Amino acid sequence: MNNKIMTVITIVILIAVVLFGVISQRQEQNEELELEEYENTAMMLDTVNTIRTYGPGGEEAVQQAFGRLEEIEALLDLYDEESSLNRINQNAGGEAVEVEAELLEVLELAKEFAAENQGAFDPTIGALTLLWGWGSEEGPSIPAQEDIEQALGLVDYNRLEISPEEQTARLEEEGMILDLGAIAKGYAGDEAVEVLLEKGIERAFVNLGGNIVLLGTKPDETPWRIGIQNPRSDRGSAMGSVDIGEEDLINGQIAVATSGDYERYFEDNDTRYHHIIDPETGYPAEGGAVSTTVVSENPSRTDALSTGLFVLGLERGLELAESLEGVEAVFITEDKEVYLTSGLEVDENFQLMDDEFIIVN
Ligand code: ADP
Ligand code: MG
Repeated sequence: MNNKIMTVITIVILIAVVLFGVISQRQEQNEELELEEYENTAMMLDTVNTIRTYGPGGEEAVQQAFGRLEEIEALLDLYDEESSLNRINQNAGGEAVEVEAELLEVLELAKEFAAENQGAFDPTIGALTLLWGWGSEEGPSIPAQEDIEQALGLVDYNRLEISPEEQTARLEEEGMILDLGAIAKGYAGDEAVEVLLEKGIERAFVNLGGNIVLLGTKPDETPWRIGIQNPRSDRGSAMGSVDIGEEDLINGQIAVATSGDYERYFEDNDTRYHHIIDPETGYPAEGGAVSTTVVSENPSRTDALSTGLFVLGLERGLELAESLEGVEAVFITEDKEVYLTSGLEVDENFQLMDDEFIIVN
């Protein structure tokens, strides 16, 4: 009799334990699934911007982040006569111009990154970008050699004066022009993530015209997979990917940006003229890479570095990337050779998807 009761009690307890296990597992799964996803896309900063959030409050957070991007565009757009950036450009060689604290902050970042990139990224590249006709109504064309030489004399980030006390900026010589095209999307990504964080978003995917910022891990805990475009495919197919797991995040986030000679270019006599200019020569950079991808914590720095490393080229660019803490890079050559910095490993955090490409190191 006693034995029977004991057996019944044991069975009841066992069933309860198993049931509890099943229920609590269900709840965990539910918690994963309950992270509602919200995604929206908007045209701004001359490009397509997509933000995807996981968790409650996504719609409002994304709306606010887009609002932030609009503000940034109004400050930094070279092709908007009214932008604060252009007030500095219009007064080049003249009086210092009082501008928003935010614009000064971006200019200071740009100078800092110009130095880090040994001048290969230079925010005063504008005289050359305009001379080549990028953004003009007629479209780009090859300038006269003497015009290039003259414009070269107007490119030097050391001649951008910033006064934090007066809250002013000044370009030293008439004709000098600021162009923040190689850092604006990165900076905007940085600010968009700030807005999302303020709104309590902990996981998000931000893609501003190919400048990507990842916040937190994916809800299903698989790594983020960021495709790297085949630089010679019209269909925009990926030749490989960088995979970002929890251990790859730095302070909970990571940025990925690519600069390539396929983004904007024209051809003349079988020569490709693209939009990334070497501040030493005044011509489209020919450093041996056709695409450079950078992975690092800070989105502005990542954007500037992707352009700077492209200009520095395969050899000097790889050397610089390798020397920088917390920075990884992928260089691709015309011959489909792929060069990785030492923190990227094939079949670990880098996947090759197209076997026409060869990993050299
Ligand atoms: P994309 O804008 O295509 O994503 P980048 O981030 O490399 O690519 O930025 C390229 C833009 O930056 C050009 O369109 C031009 O406005 C500007 N730019 C070109 N060459 C340089 C350079 N050497 N340093 C700084 N900015 C540059
Ligand atoms: Mg860039």
